[in-house]
Amino acid sequence: MPYNRETAGKGGHADFVRNPDVQRFLSDCDYMKPPSDAEAEAIISTFINAPAGHPPRLPNFVVASDASKSDNPINDKLPSTQLGFIKVSHVLIAMDKYAELIDPRSRFVDPFKVAEMHRNAQPITYVLPGSNILYRGSANVRDGFRRAVYDQLTANRREGANRMVLTETLLTLNDDLITIKACPSAECSEPIEHLEFTQSAQTHSCPACRTTIYATDWLRLHEGISDFGNNASAMTRMMNVVEHLLLAAFILELLRDTAHVQVLARIAFVVDGPLALFGEPAKLHKRIMSLLYRANLKLAGLGFEPLLVLGLQKTGAVMDHALLLERFLPKGKGVLRLIDDDYRSKYITGSSTPSANFGHETYYGQDFLFKTERGRIFNFALPYPFENKGIGYNSAEFAQMKADIAQYGSLVERACDLIRHFELDLYDNAIVPVALAHRHASISIMPGGKVLDLLTRASLSR
Ligand SMILES: [Zn+2]
Repeated sequence: MPYNRETAGKGGHADFVRNPDVQRFLSDCDYMKPPSDAEAEAIISTFINAPAGHPPRLPNFVVASDASKSDNPINDKLPSTQLGFIKVSHVLIAMDKYAELIDPRSRFVDPFKVAEMHRNAQPITYVLPGSNILYRGSANVRDGFRRAVYDQLTANRREGANRMVLTETLLTLNDDLITIKACPSAECSEPIEHLEFTQSAQTHSCPACRTTIYATDWLRLHEGISDFGNNASAMTRMMNVVEHLLLAAFILELLRDTAHVQVLARIAFVVDGPLALFGEPAKLHKRIMSLLYRANLKLAGLGFEPLLVLGLQKTGAVMDHALLLERFLPKGKGVLRLIDDDYRSKYITGSSTPSANFGHETYYGQDFLFKTERGRIFNFALPYPFENKGIGYNSAEFAQMKADIAQYGSLVERACDLIRHFELDLYDNAIVPVALAHRHASISIMPGGKVLDLLTRASLSR
């Protein structure tokens, strides 16, 4: 993801907006507009003082992930032949070691020491066929893409005898049973009955066309693939799926062994982007929400605090809104706002008919706006502290439940403390671990499983 906010530099944009046809069209639309002074004052009066621990409540470890992708043609001479390449980097920061990175004179992170950290890391990579590429003899791009998704997610991403296999993670998230109800092959799409996928049966043949169907087809990533069109959005969906499955894989592994569970209470996972999954694989968000809930139950049973998973968004509508408000926010004071659905529809999306529950099909985390004492603004998200969105209550009730800040317990304060600790002038409204992970994914230089090996070892040594 790009770091600096990219501003469109195209000439003629102002002319275009002044065009009477465009003006007339806009008058028929609802959209985010800069608030008037009076409106801004009213909005800001609903912000609360940001909680702070004394001393700050910081984790022992931070694991930050960042993903990047490329979906360019394989070479300039074949512009319609596209390959998807996804990289996900993880940076593990032991907080006691982090202090050593800060130059005591400038309070900035020492770039030479950071470079040293980078040498210890390697992104996990995934390669996928795009338009005009037939993988392993497939009849069409889409079927080849399905197979590539399965092959890539079924590869073990950990060294030695240890395993980190995302297809297994996907099945575990689904209680070891995935059901697919229609043949995903581009040329068949026959409804099928009782095709059940388990850890020991991850593939089946379609009873109608004999094409191989994979457990990973449940993600529906292939539905965005066409033989000749631009498949960039399918690659983006795959990237998001991988990033969230890796988070789930880390958590599941630490939950598996009682000796490691306590690490979960002392760790913060920082995800670059919203706690949500969009498009074809969006239903995966429910499984992750339920995993986090169950992890927290286990932690609570052992007397530990809930797990801190923090989504950080550098761009998007909430950040755009925050920047419009910036000059009205109090100086030198940390303030916070939970973005409830009313607030979102009134001030951010500009919609007069809000949905019963924003992000019902996509989000597993709640957005917050936080302006630090030093004046930087962050849009962070914390997982909804519920197992699901609607068994025993409806979606409008869920919208109320998720907006109750008390439900997030200590997590709000811990999130604010973490952001304060890592906020940095060097990176525009970013925090250090994400900036580090980001640098990694952008330039290529610990397989992801290595993070897990280090964490499980750390839990035993403390
Ligand atoms: Zn079929």
